[in-house]
Amino acid sequence: MYFHDAETIERTELEKLQVERLKNTIGLAAKSPYYSEVFKQNDISADIIKTVDDIQKLPFTTKDDLRSQYPHGLLSRPVDDFVRLHASSGTTGTPTAVFYTQKDLDTWADLMARSMYAVGMRKSDVLQNMSGYGLFTGGLGIHYGSERLGCLTIPAGAGNTKRQIKLIRDFNVTALHIIPSFALYFAAKVREEGFDPADMPWKIALIGAEPHTDHTRRKIEEMLCIKAYNSYGLSEMNGPGVAFECTEQDGMHVWEDAYIAEIINPETGEHVKEGEIGELVMTTLTREGMPIIRYRTRDLTRFIPGQCKCGRTSRRIDRIMGRADDMLILKGVNIYPMQIEKIIMGIPEVGQNYVIELIKEGFIDQIRIKVEIKEEFFVEDMRVLQGLQKLISAKLRDEILVTPRVELVQHNSIPKTEGKAQRVVDLRGAEE
Ligand code: AMP
Ligand code: ZN
Repeated sequence: MYFHDAETIERTELEKLQVERLKNTIGLAAKSPYYSEVFKQNDISADIIKTVDDIQKLPFTTKDDLRSQYPHGLLSRPVDDFVRLHASSGTTGTPTAVFYTQKDLDTWADLMARSMYAVGMRKSDVLQNMSGYGLFTGGLGIHYGSERLGCLTIPAGAGNTKRQIKLIRDFNVTALHIIPSFALYFAAKVREEGFDPADMPWKIALIGAEPHTDHTRRKIEEMLCIKAYNSYGLSEMNGPGVAFECTEQDGMHVWEDAYIAEIINPETGEHVKEGEIGELVMTTLTREGMPIIRYRTRDLTRFIPGQCKCGRTSRRIDRIMGRADDMLILKGVNIYPMQIEKIIMGIPEVGQNYVIELIKEGFIDQIRIKVEIKEEFFVEDMRVLQGLQKLISAKLRDEILVTPRVELVQHNSIPKTEGKAQRVVDLRGAEE
């Protein structure tokens, strides 16, 4: 049931379906205060869409547009018709609120169930959802998807490692949903509590909600003796279940019968060439209550050329390389946090956590990277630690072309948040 025809549909058939749904979406969107105005100004109606490429005739929708319409400007129906609200995790300014009708929740649960099926989960699995509930879509979104697939679902929420372990052992949990930065911390805790991860019942981890490198994934897999799959989504497009890895672990399938994905050059707004990195732009095709057209996600990725071995015909996106907003510019060089993570997580002495701090040295911007070192290496003598620090610095320099300050810190000394990790902290305005 959760591997449906839509997943192996021929490209031409898929595009026909996308055109039909895009037209329908435009019709629905036109009923919202925001889009009715935008469409009027730009002379837009469903008739201008003949092919999927015609989507480029439609204007983008940005986070600022959504904010300016807070709270109800994007709704295509009266508030009474909605049954759920979530909000995105942005830490500054007005949040963006996302509303769901009952039908929207059903569609979302189906997409989630399909995603879980793609990584090998079946009805007999027991899923423990270790991400925060509340407004964050990773709580209820994953929860309802798992129930839809027929799995026993444990809403453990974030934190409280001891209780998590107890639930996992008592109820024979086979699948975890966990945020990658927390997974590394959790893996270390499991050992500290005296358990061998190899003896735990789990097999599958769904990890996502924040950028992470393939190294980090492999590290999570090794430390937990588990298979970890990348899960991508954002509140504006429902939440998780937008793009998901399959058992091939070779890119994330975008559920193209439910979304149109485009990748653009963030400066020009034009499509990049196939395979090139750019900003992901997403359009909902099956959302009735709050359709969103050409949403600029600010997430950087590329389409992976070719077909996946699993047989699904949908296009795949590469893991998110970072957010356009997180790009650091240092001495004229563009640097993404994931380039830094890729290097440091590949060094065996490095532990679970790191933070990138933007600082001022005199008048010059500099980055300082605090890296946690595994306990067994931290007791080494100074010379060894200095050598390690130099090595990390040099490897980083080769990758990002500038030499950052590197500070080695003790295991567990960088504060750990339960939600998404904040990898970049700007201290340039702070007193040093
Ligand atoms: P929110 O809507 O607040 O849950 O945040 C959505 C954002 O989280 C996305 O736009 C991405 O920046 C990030 N995100 C979600 N899933 C992933 C993932 N698998 N890899 C990297 N970043 C992700
Ligand atoms: Zn696949």
